[in-house]
Amino acid sequence: MYTIYLKRHKEESLRRFHPWVFSGAIDHADGHPEEGDVVRVATHDGHCLGYGHCQIGSIAVRMLTFREEAIDEAFFVSRLREAWALRQALGLTNRTDHGIFRLVHGEGDRLPGLVIDVYGRTAVMQAHSVGFHLCRHTLAQALVRATEGQIEAVYYKSETTLPYKADLQQENGFIIGHSDDHTALENGLRFQIDWLKGQKTGFFVDQRDNRSLLEHYAKGRRVLNMFCYTGGFSVYALRGGARLVHSVDSSAKAIELTRRNVDLNFADTDTAQRHEAYAEDAFRFLEQAGSDYDLIVLDPPAFAKHKDALRHAIKGYTRLNAIAFRKIQPGGILFTFSCSQAVSKEQFRLAIFTAAAMSGRHVRILHQLHQPADHPVNIYHPEGEYLKGLVVEVE
Ligand code: SAH
Repeated sequence: MYTIYLKRHKEESLRRFHPWVFSGAIDHADGHPEEGDVVRVATHDGHCLGYGHCQIGSIAVRMLTFREEAIDEAFFVSRLREAWALRQALGLTNRTDHGIFRLVHGEGDRLPGLVIDVYGRTAVMQAHSVGFHLCRHTLAQALVRATEGQIEAVYYKSETTLPYKADLQQENGFIIGHSDDHTALENGLRFQIDWLKGQKTGFFVDQRDNRSLLEHYAKGRRVLNMFCYTGGFSVYALRGGARLVHSVDSSAKAIELTRRNVDLNFADTDTAQRHEAYAEDAFRFLEQAGSDYDLIVLDPPAFAKHKDALRHAIKGYTRLNAIAFRKIQPGGILFTFSCSQAVSKEQFRLAIFTAAAMSGRHVRILHQLHQPADHPVNIYHPEGEYLKGLVVEVE
């Protein structure tokens, strides 16, 4: 194994457990580690700081441990047991009415570069680093061991998440077991999960708590769910007793999934009759919509994927929300989100403030929302905080 030596005084952030080593902090290596190799990281005078996965780019190493320990199956079993224990403490495991949660949230679970979402007895594993791609089989075995058989099948889905330059010819597919049941339960509601082609691991697990909150506001309301993807918010709104629910997404595939999920839960009932889905651009739909809605959800894709796109993104959030403020019924409730990591909580709130001011209406903040506890934020890695939302009431 190769050792990477840091420049003098560049070890401070690692001593505070920040999980990334930037290329500018490196003095030299005692060989030529390749992308994906486990490397030892040391101070300039050779004192070991820990071990991590080597990668090409400005983040040169993602740290797996800050101790002297081997990175092997036993290491992964121990990390995954810890992750499972947290979800157990959160009341997400061993439930008959609920099987969807995030088991590993990268840096938040001290496994930087790895995401694992659980759907019943199947886990969907996503590598964001070559290091985790290379050890995917060991990891999958460790996962079955750590969960004592509660996970029976592991689907590997890294086609779109690995650095494309690495050219690994990765494939999506089961690497342990197999399951033909592509549905899973969230708080008693059934959803179809598109592991094969869907965004992320097939479902937006991170909106679970916010969907539950929306259910409580839905009774008797006319709901517009913009950027609906699988229709998560729509299905909760219907169960909550909404008078009508309109779901909008520009992707025809998403609209098909939304319809299927409404059917999975409410087929042949009056409830299903209260739902309509439209494959349309959100901005256009909102502009043309009447002013009948009194509960609107805005959950757009990340407008800023990088810091450079920030200004443009903030304008996008302002413009979108301004239309919603203009259209919503008096006494209406707006659930508005940003999942751009590059946009801070304060910047997002300022964008909503601007949009509200443009509408000239009184607006009150009822809830300040964020990612749920199964997407934990490592306190030494604040970059892991990405989802923010506001629930506001419009006079
Ligand atoms: N609210 C969803 C997740 C939204 S993901 C949930 O709870 O699961 C963002 C969605 O926005 C994607 O499905 C994407 O197809 C859609 N989208 C992106 N640009 C859009 C646009 N201009 N108009 C409408 N939908 C759009």
